[in-house]
Amino acid sequence: MKAAVFHGKGDLRIAELPRPVPGEGEVLVQVMACGVCGTDVHIYHGDEGAARTPAGTVLGHEFAGIIVEVGPGVTTAKVGDRVCVDPNKLCGSCRWCLGGKGHFCENMVGIGTTVHGGFAQYCAVSASQVYEIAESTTYEMAAMTEPLACCLHGIDLAGIVPGDTVAVIGGGMIGQLMVQLARLSGAARVALIEPVESKRQQALALGADLAVDPTAEDVTAALSPLGPVQVVIECVGKPATMAQAMNIAGPKATVMLFGLTAPDEELTVLPFRMFKKELTIKTSYINPYTQSRALSLIDTGRVDVSACVAACRPLEDLPQVLADPALRRDGKVIINPWME
Ligand SMILES: [Zn+2]
Ligand SMILES: [Zn+2]
Repeated sequence: MKAAVFHGKGDLRIAELPRPVPGEGEVLVQVMACGVCGTDVHIYHGDEGAARTPAGTVLGHEFAGIIVEVGPGVTTAKVGDRVCVDPNKLCGSCRWCLGGKGHFCENMVGIGTTVHGGFAQYCAVSASQVYEIAESTTYEMAAMTEPLACCLHGIDLAGIVPGDTVAVIGGGMIGQLMVQLARLSGAARVALIEPVESKRQQALALGADLAVDPTAEDVTAALSPLGPVQVVIECVGKPATMAQAMNIAGPKATVMLFGLTAPDEELTVLPFRMFKKELTIKTSYINPYTQSRALSLIDTGRVDVSACVAACRPLEDLPQVLADPALRRDGKVIINPWME
């Protein structure tokens, strides 16, 4: 089978590997769609991400496909099931798992980050990691389950209550999902702050009430008709936009720093300003226990993920997509390992 193997910083090769054989409790997924994530970009550039990736690993952790083989002892899935995969496999027995905080599992296995993942024609995964998708859900949509599950965890922690005013900074794929989740959480007013016109238009189409261009307008003034902002969700991951998030937050607001910075990036904050507003600063780490809710939102069409997919490309294009930010600028890129 064809697979994209990580060999080290800036070195990703498309190779021919043997088709995996599902072991005890595993299923073999024929991968039909696998999303390119910021985490893949970090790994490719040699940054230390959420987990250390050994050389020789097949990347890809946002994927969906069809089960073509089941290993011994599998009772919860069968050949022909169309599924998406939760890439984070918890041990279930460490102190964090037992304490209901499994995303800090001491023995976590990351499919596509610490073991072989979905940038390949096939991937063997534990049957506990697959979720059956609705008939109306395409593989491309289902590949968006993991990123949506991460956003959902962030939204849960942001604590939006019905009637809130929410500002989302950054209109990339994550920001577009956050706009929709803020709406679903009951926000009365949602604003997006984003310099690119097409992304502002997209957010308005997906339910934002206001879209502000920070390069052309004074953001605080532009937001003022919406009243005090109760929740700000930063989806860019740059110190400047994080500082902006704290500036536009109203009294008693929660600021969710969702965007991922480079590991060594520092943020300067003005504690006095935080003190005056009694701000709550929160962060959100991966997708604990949110995969099935995320899939429900996709299956029922409550969240439009298709709008966030920019392009589908063959596996051979992956090294280029990881190396060139311009190829990822318009939203999520999905790799189809069967596309010629
Ligand atoms: Zn991801
Ligand atoms: Zn554990």
